[in-house]
Amino acid sequence: MSLAAQRILVLGGGFSGMSAAIELRKQGAAVDLVEIDPEWRNYGAGISLGGATLRAFRHMGVLEAFLERGSAHDGVSLRLPHGPQVAQLPTPRIAGPDVPGGGAIMRPVLAQILVDATRAAGTRVHLGCTFSTIVQDADGVDVSFTDGRRERYDLVVGADGLYSKVREALFPEAPKPRYSGQGVWRAVVPRPPQIETATMWLGPKVKPGVNPVSKTQMYLFITEPRAVNEHLDPASFAERVRTLLADFPAPELQAIRAGLGAESMIVYRPLEGLLVPQPWSRGRVVLIGDAVHATTPHLASGACIGIEDAIVLADELARNSDQGLALKAFGERRWERCRMVVENSARLGEIEIEGGDKAEHERIMRESLMALAQPV
Ligand SMILES: Cc1cc2nc3c(=O)[nH]c(=O)nc-3n(C[C@H](O)[C@H](O)[C@H](O)COP(=O)(O)OP(=O)(O)OC[C@H]3O[C@@H](n4cnc5c(N)ncnc54)[C@H](O)[C@@H]3O)c2cc1C
Repeated sequence: MSLAAQRILVLGGGFSGMSAAIELRKQGAAVDLVEIDPEWRNYGAGISLGGATLRAFRHMGVLEAFLERGSAHDGVSLRLPHGPQVAQLPTPRIAGPDVPGGGAIMRPVLAQILVDATRAAGTRVHLGCTFSTIVQDADGVDVSFTDGRRERYDLVVGADGLYSKVREALFPEAPKPRYSGQGVWRAVVPRPPQIETATMWLGPKVKPGVNPVSKTQMYLFITEPRAVNEHLDPASFAERVRTLLADFPAPELQAIRAGLGAESMIVYRPLEGLLVPQPWSRGRVVLIGDAVHATTPHLASGACIGIEDAIVLADELARNSDQGLALKAFGERRWERCRMVVENSARLGEIEIEGGDKAEHERIMRESLMALAQPV
């Protein structure tokens, strides 16, 4: 059956699920997107995006909106704790010669761009509900929902994130997310004119960085080894971040430290990873995004590989009328790239936790950025 004649359900309205809806609608499929959060929110400070993500945005038709509302820039500056630059990593202009090799944007702003594109594409969106049961036979998938509806689909795309219930229901043997031993602090702070691109200061074990999200703001991130994944009291956040920055005399970081306040929107997140072995589909149900490959943010590519999944999935379904073969081809096309991101990011985290070899860290970063420039 041609893709244009199919009914497809996307479970989860994060970056991966919205991208899947947009790309599948482009091919003419009738798409329902079901998102559990009644307000379809996206939390957190900024998100860093590499050239490969900007290439995906261009493919999806949202690059202009990103360039208007986010920040695009070239290169990653690596610095010593007191300030001097030790390296400037190149970020290839993957999206085209006219588009910088990377950038960043506030997460809620990116989410809104994709929400608008999802709705404009003609997706039927259902908020505040999820599936109750998924039962498939050779010809289709029957899904019952928590709002009482029952529908039949040709394909179900599980894009419900790291703690995916679709994965739990259909892939019970899949590995569980694993805590990496590192946490990350993030905040939104004013952008001084001298910060022109993503910039990181390499401490022995703690790594602060900033990335501009607009002309006037940047987001701060600090990775910190934390042996135990424990709850931290938000009332202590500002003081904890000040303490972490105390060891970094670089003037930009000391200015941030002095200015931290309630408006900085500090958040803490323990870092977890997951790589589900192939296959990523069971019959007519396929998983994409963090549901199968959640990475720590060391290469700033988690959203990228989820969005690319959506593009490749729609491409394979469009070019192959046999759904089983299309889903197999999807998994094969995605595996090596997603494995590389998850495993290299995990290795970068290990080096940071151990206070290990900075040259190895820089080499992995450089090689990974080059690998991400390859076609998907
Ligand atoms: C601290 C941190 C920093 C990061 N920084 C970056 C970065 O700088 N750059 C980058 O590219 N990536 C980064 N990432 C990774 C990136 O955020 C994720 O890879 C990306 O958001 C995954 O998108 P997703 O749509 O697959 O999953 P999610 O974002 O988890 O979206 C899943 C969606 O499904 C919904 N949902 C959940 N359960 C159900 C259900 N049962 N039914 C229906 N809906 C459901 C959720 O509400 C959510 O909307 C970072 C991750 C972390 C943890």
